[in-house]
Amino acid sequence: SYRKGGYHAVRVGDQFAGGRYIAQRKLGWGQFSTVWLAYDTKTSTYVALKIQKSAAQFVQAALHEIEVLSAIADGTPSNLKFVVQLIDQFKHTGPNGQHQCMVLEFLGDSLLRLVKYNRYKGLPLNKVREICQCILIGLDYLHREHGIIHTDLKLENVLLVSTIDPAKDPVRSGVSPILERPEGNINGTVTSLIEKKLKRRARRAVAKISVQRASMGGMGEAPKPERNIDGINVRCKVVDFGNACWADKPFAEEIQTRQYRAPEVILQAGYSFSVDMWSFACIAFELATGDMLFTPKVGQGAKSKDFFDRHGDLKRIRRLKYWPLNKLLIERYKFSETDANEFSEFLTPLLDFAPEKRPTAQQCLQHPWLAGKDSIPNDMRTESSVEKVDVGISNLKIKVGK
Ligand code: ATP
Ligand code: MG
Ligand code: MG
Repeated sequence: SYRKGGYHAVRVGDQFAGGRYIAQRKLGWGQFSTVWLAYDTKTSTYVALKIQKSAAQFVQAALHEIEVLSAIADGTPSNLKFVVQLIDQFKHTGPNGQHQCMVLEFLGDSLLRLVKYNRYKGLPLNKVREICQCILIGLDYLHREHGIIHTDLKLENVLLVSTIDPAKDPVRSGVSPILERPEGNINGTVTSLIEKKLKRRARRAVAKISVQRASMGGMGEAPKPERNIDGINVRCKVVDFGNACWADKPFAEEIQTRQYRAPEVILQAGYSFSVDMWSFACIAFELATGDMLFTPKVGQGAKSKDFFDRHGDLKRIRRLKYWPLNKLLIERYKFSETDANEFSEFLTPLLDFAPEKRPTAQQCLQHPWLAGKDSIPNDMRTESSVEKVDVGISNLKIKVGK
C-alpha cells in the first residue's frame, strides 16, 4: 500500500508541518492510515500523528473524521476526558500524493491489548466497572450533547490513558526525543536499530517507574511491569471517529464490526444511538470474560439445507434450550452468584432486540451495578451525565424489573 494514493512512508526523524512534529516511532496502522508517535517541538510533548492514505476517498474520509472530532472538541476540556482529542490537522505532500494528517493526543494500549495481557482470562470486575464508566460517560456525551453515533465500538477503539507515561514525561522517564533523522544510509537497517534502542530505553523506563511505584506503595515486592493488570490505571478514551455519524444523517447502511453489530443493522431496519449500546454490552461481556459475546460465522454453507428449513428454523430441534446470561457466567466463567446476577441484570436490557427498549448511556450510568460503586469522581464527568438522575433510575427500574 506504499504507492500512489496509498500510505506515506515515514522514517524516524521525519519532519511534518514545517518542522513542528518529528516522527519517533510507529504506533499502529489501519485500513486508512499509519499512526506515528511524534514529538511536538512547539509544546514539547508527544502526540499521535495519523497520516491518511492520499487517494481522494481517503482524504474525504479524513475530512469527515476531522469534522466529527472538531465538533466534539467544543471548548470544554472536561468533555474530552473520555473521547480522544484532536490537537491539529494539516496536509503533507510526499512521493505518494497529498496526505491529510491529524494530530491527536497520544494515548496508550487498546483494551484488546489489555485483555491479551491478561491472557484472555477476563479482567477483575472492579476494572470492568471503571472501564464501563469511562466508555458510558464518553457515549453519553456523544449521544446527548452532539447527536453523534460512534458506530464502531470495539475493544481496539478504546485506548487506555496512562497516568505515568514515559513518553509523555520524558524528564522522569529518561526518554529523550529524537529531533532529526539519524545519520547514514537509511534503508531499514539503521531505522530498525534505532527503533530497537528506543524500545530498550522505553522498557527500562517502564521498569524504573514500576520500581518507584512499588517502593511508594511499600509493598517490597519485585515489580511486575506491564502484565500486572492491577497496576494499570484503567482510565480510557473512545477513539477512531472515522465511521461516526450524526444520527439525523446516517450515511452507511452497514455499520459496525460484525461481532459488535446490533440486530437492527443486520436486518437493515434503520438505526440510532442504541446501536452503540449494543456494542457497549458486547465490550463489557468481553472484558469480564475474555471471550467475545457473539462470534458470527458465515450463514450460508454447503450443509445449510441439512440443518435449516426454508424459513431459517432448525429442522430437527423444535425447542432451543437457552442459557441465560447469569447461568452462563456462573457455570462457564465461575462468577459468584451475586456477581453473575448483578452483571447480567446490567447487561441483559442492553441486549434487547428492540432498539428502543435498550437503556441509554445516561441510564446505564445510574444502574446499581455502577452507581454507588463510583470510581470516576463527579468532577470528571460531563455535567449532563449527572443531571436528571431520578428520571434515569426510574426508567431503568421499569426495564430491569420486567
Ligand atoms: P481503521 O481501519 O481501524 O479505521 P484507521 O486507519 O482509521 O484504522 P485508527 O484505528 O484511527 O486508524 O488507528 C490505527 C492504530 O493506531 C490504532 O489501532 C492504534 O493502535 C493506533 N492509534 C490510533 N490513535 C492513537 C492515539 N491517539 N494514541 C496512540 N495510538 C493510537
Ligand atoms: Mg481503528
Ligand atoms: Mg478509522
